[in-house]
Amino acid sequence: MKTDFLIVGQGLAGSLLAWHLLGAGRRVLVVDRDEESTSSKVAAGLVTPLAGSRFHLPEHLGERLDYARRFYWDIEERSGQTLFRHLRIARLFRDQSEADLWRSRIAREPERYARYHAPLEVDPGSLHMPFGGFEMREGGWLDVPAFLEVTRQALLERAAYAIAKVRSEDISASPGGVRWKNVEAGWAVFCEGWRGAANRFFDWVPLRPTCGGILDLRLPRLAGEGRILNRGGWLLPLGDGRFRAGSTYRELLPSHAAAGEIADADADRDEILAKVAAITPAAAEVVGQRTGLRPTIRRSQIFMGPHPAHPRIVFFNGFGSKGVLNGPWHAATLVAHLLVGAPLPESAELGGRFL
Ligand SMILES: Cc1cc2nc3c(=O)[nH]c(=O)nc-3n(C[C@H](O)[C@H](O)[C@H](O)COP(=O)(O)OP(=O)(O)OC[C@H]3O[C@@H](n4cnc5c(N)ncnc54)[C@H](O)[C@@H]3O)c2cc1C
Repeated sequence: MKTDFLIVGQGLAGSLLAWHLLGAGRRVLVVDRDEESTSSKVAAGLVTPLAGSRFHLPEHLGERLDYARRFYWDIEERSGQTLFRHLRIARLFRDQSEADLWRSRIAREPERYARYHAPLEVDPGSLHMPFGGFEMREGGWLDVPAFLEVTRQALLERAAYAIAKVRSEDISASPGGVRWKNVEAGWAVFCEGWRGAANRFFDWVPLRPTCGGILDLRLPRLAGEGRILNRGGWLLPLGDGRFRAGSTYRELLPSHAAAGEIADADADRDEILAKVAAITPAAAEVVGQRTGLRPTIRRSQIFMGPHPAHPRIVFFNGFGSKGVLNGPWHAATLVAHLLVGAPLPESAELGGRFL
């Protein structure tokens, strides 16, 4: 079989890449090992423009947000399914120093921050907000499992999807392309998430799995809440008093992750429930719990590009905890690089930077 691109892994990264290549008229074959639980299948899918406690506003935030939303809405139109929901985020300050930092940020750069904040509307009985807060605009969430399934169906319709475990040892590269079993492709792009740490072409990239847990909860007292609530931890409303809550972060060695030593479920549950208790006094009933391994290289910095010695072998990874927001723009940029030689942004270019 011949194809233009062999994509290894159909998580968020492989799915985004496949859509962009199909949009550019290229043939793809996406091969996924079909694991029950992956980072993308567990992800909450939140888009939080001003993430973290420093309220840092990244330089290209607006451009990447606009691109991501347009991209997801385009897939919604093609599939007829709602995938991305625009939701307001009630950002409650953890303490006085956070409140002070926020005020100094918006006083110093009011125009840059204007797009992302509004006064907070609040029911003082249902939330803890002793230090106040603000309403973060431009947030939302992607139903990542639904996006993966829509993508898988689109690939199946094109006979462009297969279930298999691709071993990097079974891939041979030449200046004109790659071969895997009976597949000849122009390029192989590895979108393996944390499992990329064992890839023989990229084992020099310091990829670390970051274990994360989330809970499914019932909080009947917050049934009327339609905003994402955030105060260190977060609560995502799913309707009828159901919420998703998270999350935890534990960095692991890839060898421990491969051995399945990933999580302490009780510790995860207690940590998330403590975060929920900091948001609201409402009683929470746990109805589900999941764990996944985020692919992290340097915080949530995506790295991508061809292997320094094998230009037809390509890396796309490191989505960390911000893949939903940053992934689409990076997929578009990687495709432009591979197809027409457009430059990769210095911040994301893999090159030989970790060699
Ligand atoms: C608890 C938790 C909460 C999160 N919340 C958010 C959030 O709110 N917002 C956000 O943006 N991100 C969030 N994330 C992070 C997000 O899940 C990741 O950034 C993103 O989904 C990673 O996608 P990926 O495709 O790189 O990796 P993965 O999801 O790991 O996908 C890799 C795929 O490749 C397959 N694969 C790997 N190796 C091979 C091989 N050799 N052959 C064949 N198939 C292979 C795997 O089975 C998998 O299907 C969260 C993650 C967790 C764990």
